[in-house]
Amino acid sequence: MSENHHKVVIIGSGPAGLSAALYAARAELEPIVLTGMELGGQVSITHIVENYPGFPEGISGPELTDVFQKQAERFGAKLVFDSATEVDFSQRPFRIQGYSGEYFADAVIIATGASPRHLNVPGETEFTGRGVSYCGTCDGYFFKDKEVIVVGGGDSALEEGSFLTRYANSVTVVHRRDELRAGPFTEARARENPKIDFIWDTVVKEIVGNGQVKTAVLENRKTGEVKDLSIDGVFIFIGHIPNTDMFKGQLELDDQGYLKVNRYNHTNVPGVFAAGEVADSHFRQVITSAGMGAAAAMEAGRFLEENEG
Ligand code: NAP
Repeated sequence: MSENHHKVVIIGSGPAGLSAALYAARAELEPIVLTGMELGGQVSITHIVENYPGFPEGISGPELTDVFQKQAERFGAKLVFDSATEVDFSQRPFRIQGYSGEYFADAVIIATGASPRHLNVPGETEFTGRGVSYCGTCDGYFFKDKEVIVVGGGDSALEEGSFLTRYANSVTVVHRRDELRAGPFTEARARENPKIDFIWDTVVKEIVGNGQVKTAVLENRKTGEVKDLSIDGVFIFIGHIPNTDMFKGQLELDDQGYLKVNRYNHTNVPGVFAAGEVADSHFRQVITSAGMGAAAAMEAGRFLEENEG
């Protein structure tokens, strides 16, 4: 086997990718993991994970990533700091093009996760990094004693909103309905927080500023009323979009763009498996992604045994 030809290449290094790496390494499949731009994926920028078993006090996202990585490397998995940009799954060995080189694989596990959905309103792109953010854990510190809004009504919006109250003077949750999507525990914790307020039935129409965010233009969906709210930051948590662009035309996707897999994590191409949020629009938890990663690696091992050479 040439230097860039591997039994298993794992694309992505979140909980799914690193769990796949652990299982594939222990099965002596000598996997490499193309980490992508963000080692650890979404969890690596999560302040605290309180529902991954084994950590009764919770564990920070970066620490959890670190222990996942160490455990996979202990058994021989190799992490390569490269991002896949293009794939060719039309024949084996499969070909994966990265920024730093080309990789060939007898089996591939896709664990590319998902990225934050954008509001697509005027000002959003212009002010990203200048008041608009998709990560409270990363950027919260810059909003010490400031006024911020959080857009969305799911678990992410409320958890990140609660986290932001450590720094911000006030956090106003702007939600498009009058009922939250978040689970009851997260909702209760946010409602009890004296720094958190809610604006219901409202969407952000525009983000305005002058080098830095100054105003959010809000529209009440029931009354049609439009008003300007003076703020310093807009944190957007309105769900995710699966990172499947490079697989279009090669693998089957569902109507929301997620990779289609069967219950054994097989895509429609034999030898190509998928795990984690890229193939799961329903559960999207660290534990479910990790479980899918382990299952995909076991199936990759089985596939290689049956298709030796
Ligand atoms: P989510 O559950 O899909 O919630 C997205 C929120 O954004 C919803 O309230 C939605 O409104 C709103 N939204 C969507 N598009 C919008 C738009 N264009 N404009 C305005 N609002 C919009 O996403 P999430 O909060 O990121 O959570 C994703 C998954 O991860 C969920 O399964 C969640 O339970 C899980 N999660 C779990 C934890 C935890 O257990 N600790 C923490 C974070 C996330 P509607 O409600 O009207 O649809």
